[in-house]
Amino acid sequence: MTATRRAGNVSLLLLLLCLLATATGCATEQRHRPSVVVTTNILGDLTRNVVGDEAEVTVLMQPGADPHSFGVSAPQAAAMEQADLVVHNGLGLEENVLRHVEAARVSGVPTLAVGESVDPMTYSGGESAGRPDPHFWTDPVRVRKAVRLIGDRVVRHVEGVDAAAVRKNAERYGAELAGLHTSMRDAFASVPADRRRLVTNHHVFGYLADRYGFRVVGAVIPSGTTLASPSASDLDSLATAVRKAGVPAIFADSSQPDRLAQVLKRESGIDVDVVPLFSESLTPKGQGAATYLQMMRANTEAITKGLTSR
Ligand SMILES: [Zn+2]
Repeated sequence: MTATRRAGNVSLLLLLLCLLATATGCATEQRHRPSVVVTTNILGDLTRNVVGDEAEVTVLMQPGADPHSFGVSAPQAAAMEQADLVVHNGLGLEENVLRHVEAARVSGVPTLAVGESVDPMTYSGGESAGRPDPHFWTDPVRVRKAVRLIGDRVVRHVEGVDAAAVRKNAERYGAELAGLHTSMRDAFASVPADRRRLVTNHHVFGYLADRYGFRVVGAVIPSGTTLASPSASDLDSLATAVRKAGVPAIFADSSQPDRLAQVLKRESGIDVDVVPLFSESLTPKGQGAATYLQMMRANTEAITKGLTSR
């Protein structure tokens, strides 16, 4: 072997060692980058506001998806089991994801069921009456509580985050939520008491109704989940309720086709507007509800207008 050839081999060896070192470095960094995995995109937005740049936040549910029915991929399920914290809604919302949350919990990952810790209500009517209602995010006062809770858990469980920074983020975002509550209260005050009646796609606005003094007259899908479907007699009795309540508008989830609401309107011959709301899911950017605050402001305006326009 010539001297030049030997030198070449040494260089190659050094190069390989460098590559190995880099790869190991990367892997180590990945392992130590704190990670929070969140199920729904609404909770994802809250969590990102709290966590800021302190950790990697992975949101499983796509914009515009249905929280009752979305599923996760195998890599997403694996990410849950490697997370420092899993944040989920609970109360029966994410029906297809619960077993993965459970698997993460069993493998030692701290999990936070936000809905269960913010004074949950039960459904007052329909097929789901008496069961816990998971749609707590329609009440910004509970969401503010949720944000504080997420902040506490991040500080407690996610190693390597700056606790003071997380608390400050939670405080700042909490103040925005307090502002949202005030603006919703003021807007709804302009709706006459006898018009504060909600008919929605499924039972999704119970918390908002309770907070701001609305009565839930009924839902096109007489259940707490979008996975149920109404019978002809369900639609009949709802049409009667709508007529009796005299509401000028019924509300449909923008993430769900408003076909059923349109059927109700046509079949029963009642004269109502069908107004879309963002109730279950954030949208992609530029489509009206890319953030929780944007979603709630848009809904407040649509409900207020829908119930007072005629
Ligand atoms: Zn729902």
